[in-house]
Amino acid sequence: MRGGCGGNVVRGVAIELWVQKESISMLPCPLCGSSHHSPHVRVDQYTIVRCQQCAFMFVNPAPTQAELTAFYQDPAYYKGGGLGYNDYFAQRESHETLADQRLKRIEKLLPAPGTVLDVGCAAGFFLAVAQKRGWTVAGVELSEDMAQYARDLTGQPIVPRVTELNVAPETFDAITFWEYIEHIPDPQDEVRRLTTLLKPGGVLALSTPNSSYWGAVYKPEIWREFKPPAHIGFFTAATLTRMLTACGLEVVALPRVFPLAPIHPYAARRLLDLLRRTLGNGAERRTPLWWVFSLAWRIVEKSTQMLYKWRWPDADIEVCIEAYARKPLA
Ligand SMILES: [Zn+2]
Repeated sequence: MRGGCGGNVVRGVAIELWVQKESISMLPCPLCGSSHHSPHVRVDQYTIVRCQQCAFMFVNPAPTQAELTAFYQDPAYYKGGGLGYNDYFAQRESHETLADQRLKRIEKLLPAPGTVLDVGCAAGFFLAVAQKRGWTVAGVELSEDMAQYARDLTGQPIVPRVTELNVAPETFDAITFWEYIEHIPDPQDEVRRLTTLLKPGGVLALSTPNSSYWGAVYKPEIWREFKPPAHIGFFTAATLTRMLTACGLEVVALPRVFPLAPIHPYAARRLLDLLRRTLGNGAERRTPLWWVFSLAWRIVEKSTQMLYKWRWPDADIEVCIEAYARKPLA
């Protein structure tokens, strides 16, 4: 009897462990199909796992489609509140500057500006800048509030899903998705589908948080980009390259970049940036004091970077990756 009880307890524990293991390996890796994952970090009720075969990190089990739709239809997502776009509209100028830089990179890879599709276009700031640079634009945005804003801004139809675009294959010269791919449950399928809409020789460009970033590796429990259900897939330069190559694209450039606003571990940089802005005279900021603080800012930035590289050589100091890839002509 006692033995039987003991046996049951042991079996109970074994079943519990088995169930735990099963729930972790419930979804295969969306990039390589492997079922072998190890937990990386737990955020709220979600577990972020790392694929033991290809190192891709993703939320497993994934949030349901209903959970995701409800999350993105909530206007609070775009008005800050932790998970969403923090003060998205207040940062319009920064978004436009960034759009200009990214379009310049894309234009270098093409004979001339043509047609561009921006997936997850939000309020359409990128598309409006593209129009000014001579592009014909189209956008996809799930949030109806944002889509309406983008429609008013660009005068173009903005649809909620790629499937509602009603365009022929090989329509676009460029397809972009900025901070979008980390929101998608099956990113490789999504890129493959979008690639069919790209003309041969066309450019696919994207950006996503860098999960080789120091914070993602050493402080995953507080890294701000580990934020399910908003973010559910997490890339490094290596996993991003593997995915784009698997979709038949040639990776042309893979810059790792800093964010718009300085964040941890750059508290000193944030302070110096503030001083640099306030010590200028507004219209022309190149006063002697501005130069002094600009120099100090650069020294602090460079030495912080060197310190991190020396102390943690296997982690990146850049929090974001951009990728520019071309669809082969043949
Ligand atoms: Zn994998």
